[in-house]
Amino acid sequence: MTPKSVIVIGAGIGGIVAATHLARRGVNVTVLEKNSHAGGRCDRFSREGHHFDAGPTLLVMPLLYEAEFAALGASIAEMLDLQRVDPTYHLVFDDGSQLALTSDMKSMQEQLEAFEPGSFLGLLRYMEEGHRHYHVGIEKLVNRQFRKASDFFTLKNLPLAFQLKPLVNHYRNMSAYFDDPRLKSAFTFQDVYMGLSPFEAPATFSMMPYTELAHGVWYPRGGMYSIVEALVELARSAGVTFEFDASVAQIDVNGSQARGVVLTDGRHLTADAILANADLPYVYKDLLPNDSESRRLERKRFSCSVISFFWGLDKPFEKLPAHTLFLADDYRDNFKSIIRDLGLPTNPSLYVHAPARLDPSMAPEGQDTVIGIVPVGHMSENGGQDWAKIRDEARQHIFRRLRTVGITNLEDHIKFEVNYTPLLWRKRYNLMKGSTHGLCHNLTQLGYFRPHNKHSRYHNLYFVGASTHPGTGMPTAMVSGRLAAERMIDEMA
Ligand SMILES: Cc1cc2nc3c(=O)[nH]c(=O)nc-3n(C[C@H](O)[C@H](O)[C@H](O)COP(=O)(O)OP(=O)(O)OC[C@H]3O[C@@H](n4cnc5c(N)ncnc54)[C@H](O)[C@@H]3O)c2cc1C
Repeated sequence: MTPKSVIVIGAGIGGIVAATHLARRGVNVTVLEKNSHAGGRCDRFSREGHHFDAGPTLLVMPLLYEAEFAALGASIAEMLDLQRVDPTYHLVFDDGSQLALTSDMKSMQEQLEAFEPGSFLGLLRYMEEGHRHYHVGIEKLVNRQFRKASDFFTLKNLPLAFQLKPLVNHYRNMSAYFDDPRLKSAFTFQDVYMGLSPFEAPATFSMMPYTELAHGVWYPRGGMYSIVEALVELARSAGVTFEFDASVAQIDVNGSQARGVVLTDGRHLTADAILANADLPYVYKDLLPNDSESRRLERKRFSCSVISFFWGLDKPFEKLPAHTLFLADDYRDNFKSIIRDLGLPTNPSLYVHAPARLDPSMAPEGQDTVIGIVPVGHMSENGGQDWAKIRDEARQHIFRRLRTVGITNLEDHIKFEVNYTPLLWRKRYNLMKGSTHGLCHNLTQLGYFRPHNKHSRYHNLYFVGASTHPGTGMPTAMVSGRLAAERMIDEMA
């Protein structure tokens, strides 16, 4: 028998997608979201005609998006006005050298050879490896359910240990392709998206730079939040009901069953199954009875956090490209300060985004909208970090870095600033430790080892989202939504 009713806790990407798949299969689905609108971390706000994507700014892995929209019976190309961003990023190094990552191989050849003779061939070989890691990884690891150990530990999966280089360190692996440390960092910084340092990430993650160059980085007109709007439209037309400003205080469990949820306004709602999209470690800690699993999860490795600055500027800074990354020479120490010391590096690598370069409507005419993001450690156990101080230092680092590319007076043109620290990430989206990407993606927290999409004790309680399989990122959250819905339909039929 198909479940007749499902309550989804949270309207993040994974929650919306799972809800839509379930509703398309005839299930009565209600999504309860604590905030006033859908999207979760893929959030947006506007002020004085300036529009800001508050979370994701990069549409990467477009093939996954295409496949997941198709699985929902839709076409992403028809629903969104997508443009390819090329060059993807402008990289700026401490010595002032710059590299515009582009799919134009002639330009890449000229640029790379100026950094290190022979390195273009290195890139082509690296892309070959990335191609293998991407295609094998998506098929064998991302697009798969891992319900039991035998789904993972099979003879057929043995070759993955060689094909995907999971036991090879990503940064060390770069020596096979490049000598120049700037090039090694240019093609490994994407590990930060997984909450990992390239000095500990598996070489498997060369799939990220590969897909960025091969399949492109894209931008939907209107910003990343247009993806949420498209998904909500699909959900509503499938019959999903959304309730906003509806915060769940507790999942009501009895024996091996989840009976329903209790909201902070005191209401008690029941359903045949519950699907939690709120950050998984938070769900265990705050919504379920405290048990050893919740303590075990808390001790797991979490990804880093970020401090984000959102600026409305009174004049355009056309010199600033859409995506600029300032990569620090002390690349290794940067990751140590963030991941081990949970702080801000003395010379942090950072990212600046100017969405109006891609869509002029993101800023009022004659003005500009700029976002600066500085990766920092997640919140510590003892709450010892002084976030106001760290935030102020991070802001100065952005201005300092901008001066090196000739943007000397951005701070004089700020009409207003909004900023997010890890405290806000935790409060607004209930992200444990303010960690922006949830549980990190080291080897012991990947694939079968990542928390599963079903609770081991409560037979009708399921999970979806960044801290469960397959992991962080918008397209992977869509995959996570489909996998969770498929499992629910299967097991409750
Ligand atoms: C700063 C930043 C930059 C990023 N950049 C990119 C990028 O460029 N590209 C990319 O692909 N990905 C990026 N990501 C990652 C991506 O945003 C996430 O992996 C993805 O959006 C997570 O979706 P999710 O399904 O886990 O849901 P979440 O986004 O975690 O949503 C969960 C929802 O549950 C709600 N909730 C929590 N507790 C309760 C409760 N008790 N009751 C009711 N509702 C509750 C929350 O409010 C939230 O809306 C970025 C993330 C951040 C934070």
